Amino acid sequence: MNFKKKKLYIENIEAKNIARKFGTPSYCYSLNILKNNIQSFKNNFKSINPLICFSVKSNSNLQILKEIKRFGIGADVVSKGELLIALKAGIDPKKIVFSGVGKTFDEIKFAIEKNILLINAESESEINEIEKISKNKKKKIDIGIRLNPNIDAKTLKKISTGKDEDKFGVSDLTFLKILRKFKNSKYLNIKCLSVHIGSQITDYRPYKKMIAVIEKIIKKSKHKFDFVDLGGGMGIKYNNETKSLNYKKYNLIIKKFLEKNNVKIIFEPGRSIIANTAVLLTKIIYIKKNKKKNFIILDAGMNDLMRPALYGSTHQIIPIKKNNKIINKIHDFVGPICESTDKFLSLKKYQKINEKDILAIHDVGAYGMALSSNYNLRTKAPEIMINKSSLRVILKRQKLNNII
Ligand SMILES: *Cc1c(COP(=O)(O)O)cnc(C)c1O
Repeated sequence: MNFKKKKLYIENIEAKNIARKFGTPSYCYSLNILKNNIQSFKNNFKSINPLICFSVKSNSNLQILKEIKRFGIGADVVSKGELLIALKAGIDPKKIVFSGVGKTFDEIKFAIEKNILLINAESESEINEIEKISKNKKKKIDIGIRLNPNIDAKTLKKISTGKDEDKFGVSDLTFLKILRKFKNSKYLNIKCLSVHIGSQITDYRPYKKMIAVIEKIIKKSKHKFDFVDLGGGMGIKYNNETKSLNYKKYNLIIKKFLEKNNVKIIFEPGRSIIANTAVLLTKIIYIKKNKKKNFIILDAGMNDLMRPALYGSTHQIIPIKKNNKIINKIHDFVGPICESTDKFLSLKKYQKINEKDILAIHDVGAYGMALSSNYNLRTKAPEIMINKSSLRVILKRQKLNNII
């Protein structure tokens, strides 16, 4: 994503030409950014040699998963559908972990049949269910237990997952109780302690607290874990107000932890790998002006990109052709959906724009397409992968015929 002579390019292709060819709204990804993200994630944690399992819920496009797989990366899945698509992408089952608070009988059975690395269980009831199924299959199954470390991840309230009030994982006391109960199970190997305290974390200190809690509970448990799965959650810079995570510090904290604990670290990054690889190109349908504001009515709505409506998060919206004429008036960027929360951004000033202009909503690669829906019976946008000067449709625009 870069501007040349005030025009947006995705790698070597002008955004205007992509919009012209595929229409709007359209998700456009840069393969080069994806490759760079994976490389730098690996470099950041080189010294601890972790198993990296991409969080498929952040982006479940098959072609993207295939690209990620080429880097030897595994998958973190949270449903049978995600497990199926990860396998279809060619990801090694021994690099797949299965998370989630509500895995069904059918999902657990399927995961066991596919011999994945770990089922990360989140309750005693779930472990009972896993034990029952593995007994039936006469197999010994490797599982993890997800600890809820009761830590404030200092992120948006709606994407925090590691506090007592959140539904995820089990408390330290329950964790120890479960360990005692299943330690000698003939059908379960408790191999992993897992955590995931939330998403879009940009401060390393919650991670530091999390590691301290893990260290303490491992000591208390006297159990030998093969893996410690630290989850994902690494934040990205969505705008100038957000900073990015200090990976050096996080890496150092983990290194220290490993000096005393001989385990393999697992990460489950989603956003940090895929978020900044994509823009959503959208056309201004109408501009409606009143005394106070200009409403910029876009052809992309909350069904295409739900994050602002769901979490109150903000994405930068930048015209694909910049100019220097600034209009000092409130601009509300809204979609066409019949909901007041169908609003992306409100800015005090903006460059002069016109109806039919194309804008790019930035950093939409994670939880963008993945969260899209057919609300208002609107078809889903296509996904297009840009690789240098070539374009590839990696998911076609849905047709009304297919959803009616
Ligand atoms: C969502 C999720 C992740 C990925 O989080 P990111 O913030 O996208 O890195 C990892 N692990 C679990 C268990 C999750 O639910």
